[in-house]
Amino acid sequence: MEVSLTSTAAAATKQVEQQQQFALASLTDLASCCSSSSYVASASSSSPAVATFSADDGVAELRFRRESDSDGGGVVNVDLTTAQLWKLGPTQTVCIFGGSDCDSNEEKYSKGVTVQFRNEEESRIFHCAFEQWKKKGIITQGESLPNGTLSSKSKFDDKIEPSSAKMYFHYYGQLLHQQNMLQDYVRTGTYYAAVMENRADFFGRVVVDVGAGSGILSLFAAQAGAKHVYAIEASEMADYATKLIAGNPALGERITVIKGKVEEVELPEKADILISEPMGTLLVNERMLESYVIARDRFLAPTGKMFPSVGRIHMAPFSDEYLFVEVANKALFWQQKNYFGVDLTSLHGSAFQGYFTQPVVDAFDPRLLVAPATYHVLDFTKMKEEDLYELYIPLKFTASVGTRVHGLACWFDVLFNGSTVQRWLTTAPGAPTTHWYQLRCVLSQPLYVMAGQEITGSLRLVAHSAQSYTIHLTLSAKMWGVGAEQGGILQTSSCKLDLKEPYYRMSQPYAMPQDQQPHQLVPTQDVHIQADDLDDTDLIQPLQNLEAQLP
Ligand code: SAH
Repeated sequence: MEVSLTSTAAAATKQVEQQQQFALASLTDLASCCSSSSYVASASSSSPAVATFSADDGVAELRFRRESDSDGGGVVNVDLTTAQLWKLGPTQTVCIFGGSDCDSNEEKYSKGVTVQFRNEEESRIFHCAFEQWKKKGIITQGESLPNGTLSSKSKFDDKIEPSSAKMYFHYYGQLLHQQNMLQDYVRTGTYYAAVMENRADFFGRVVVDVGAGSGILSLFAAQAGAKHVYAIEASEMADYATKLIAGNPALGERITVIKGKVEEVELPEKADILISEPMGTLLVNERMLESYVIARDRFLAPTGKMFPSVGRIHMAPFSDEYLFVEVANKALFWQQKNYFGVDLTSLHGSAFQGYFTQPVVDAFDPRLLVAPATYHVLDFTKMKEEDLYELYIPLKFTASVGTRVHGLACWFDVLFNGSTVQRWLTTAPGAPTTHWYQLRCVLSQPLYVMAGQEITGSLRLVAHSAQSYTIHLTLSAKMWGVGAEQGGILQTSSCKLDLKEPYYRMSQPYAMPQDQQPHQLVPTQDVHIQADDLDDTDLIQPLQNLEAQLP
């Protein structure tokens, strides 16, 4: 379908400026008693036209403009507060509205236009949009504050700094970053397989693609026979998605691109299934899971499905002497006593601690893990958006070997719980590398453990307004040998890291999958990752058994 919908919110200026456009097969004026308005000049003409809903300065308006019109004489402005629609047929509607344009001051008569839509679907969406914009006019006007500004309308604007959002959507508005995700074949291929293997979940269904980017997942859903796909994308990428979809007309006629945030846009109908790729580093980075959950509450029918439906954060302590020394040595620069005559050593301590606030992103050998991993489940179908503001994960491991523990290694997977096939997209170490790689939190104070010793602690993730999280990690190793029975704790090591400022460490050699090109190792903000079939390793729990343990 070629109905084009656009919506932009200028959050920084707190001005609400939105638009939604519909192409019409024709627009015909109804006879009017008005005698001298420009409206009469074009009366009884019938030609293709465009209908535009807008809300400049909080006043909702509908404007019809004929495509043939060059001098503006065929423009019809409709005050939405008085306007009403009457359906004449499946694709024909009359719009009646107040006659304030008439010259006569004594009595006002109604005006009307007959709208011919190109098809039934577009008629339905127009009617739905009409109701929404009528409502929006009332709501927006009601939100006006005494000083003339408008209160922020969306959950997104309430919690995210405008500067962060601007950079974020600027990043995703560029094709090169979308290409980077598309070329992660483990990621894109797993989505494709999950959709195609579960055609039954898409065939004849209404789908919403949450954060559509290039529109790739919408096109997959259409390939699987979706009745209609709404592709919601807030960045400028929405325009490229429109182009890509128009370039695939057989699929594109069943896809509508909607430019706007999922927290703000309106849809004409409920969805049977949501599809999205909202995962960032450590699953939660970028805070897009919150948008996914909001989209669920706003758009999904009660019995609807989510692709993916579950995410898990996996964690295990690791030992990596090389990494520890590398991080610690970064601060050596500050140990110089005579740097152009300046003693730098007073800042060495701060620089040393500073480097340990950066989580390390790279692909590591799973043999570096010191204990079997544990995991924390996030059920996207049930959790509340607020549950993602702070995550507290208690940790308990049993060391498999005696070694120095340098920190906590983390990765994630997500589940496509299809009616036909269940498929996991995993970013585990040892599995084929994705653009998310894995994440390691390095302790500035390593722990010494013996084989069989218990390692306890916690991982606390606190969301911040720059679309990321502060990570609080504590690991403790209980005393081993005499005295352990009394539960005495020998060593505890803690660190605080900013997930927004990772150290991308891609130089370490690791087995690169054949389909992965070297240029994919360039770090990106969207450091999402993958992994599918885990190699057998005695340190990682086999995934097939974990599925049964899900709630
Ligand atoms: N679905 C695409 C893109 C995934 S990246 C793919 O799988 O290739 C996530 C996309 O979601 C980005 O393009 C980003 O701009 C968009 N996005 C993030 N938060 C959003 C929000 N709140 N509303 C709409 N789009 C959002």
